[in-house]
Amino acid sequence: MDNALKYLIQQRSNEWRYDGNLVIFLYAPIIIVLSGPTHWHIDYPVCGGHKQSPININTEQVILNKSLSSFVLTGYQNITNVNMSIQNNGHTVEIDLSGEPITLSGGGLPGTYKALQFHFHWGSKSNRGSEHLINQNHFPMEMHIVHYSTRYRSFSSAMNATDGLAIGSRNPYMDKIINHFAQISHKNDHVKIATFSLHSLLPDDLVTYYRYYGSLTTPPCFESIIWTMFTKPIEISENQMNRFRTALHSNAHNQADRSESDDFRPVQQLNGRVNLRRGSNSDKFGTNFINVYMAQQTK
Ligand SMILES: [Zn+2]
Repeated sequence: MDNALKYLIQQRSNEWRYDGNLVIFLYAPIIIVLSGPTHWHIDYPVCGGHKQSPININTEQVILNKSLSSFVLTGYQNITNVNMSIQNNGHTVEIDLSGEPITLSGGGLPGTYKALQFHFHWGSKSNRGSEHLINQNHFPMEMHIVHYSTRYRSFSSAMNATDGLAIGSRNPYMDKIINHFAQISHKNDHVKIATFSLHSLLPDDLVTYYRYYGSLTTPPCFESIIWTMFTKPIEISENQMNRFRTALHSNAHNQADRSESDDFRPVQQLNGRVNLRRGSNSDKFGTNFINVYMAQQTK
């Protein structure tokens, strides 16, 4: 590569995004690269790896693993001393957790994991939006709860728990998030919110889940993520979905408005990964456990 070009590339300021192809603006001496998912690997090489997420789950090929046990949750319901703040980070709406730890263990996981934040991926239309697919079917929205191992400080050892959302009746708990959208309409907006039970957002059936090993679905796409996907949906109404679609912008206040919708990465190749497993309903269950459920879309 031409040395001058190399220099220019080093000087550029990058912004990964979901839409479009590789867009290069050349304002010498700065090259601004706006790259969509198929180009993330240029700036973030791990995004071109062989254990990437999300994936399509072919339920015919899921292997039942009865050793995958129920989860043990702490702090999901008792919210004393838990703090929440909501932010628009330009890619999604994210609720950050601090204070008293919210943790989970069990579920075949190697240790205890602490919830760090949760966020959403959604479509501009209801026929898309989720990152993971089940038998090639999209869901209108997917919620990720990001946990990290208490044995490591590194975020790269995180675990994602994912919930599919189905269009259904209004979800009153979702309003505790949506009601703040006017305060976080643009990138970098953030505000503290009243703490609510994380458990209230989750489906009541937390026994059955899919498990596979993958990556973060955004750059830098680190491949050390244990994915747990609950099979039962969370309900959300079309009106509530529309608030996500219209109230949130991926740009800062002083820039032209761009919708934050369609913030999902396309599915990635399995590359020989066959370690998809499904928890069994015969697993022991109790009031103290959880997991991730993908939804059946009800419309
Ligand atoms: Zn996510």
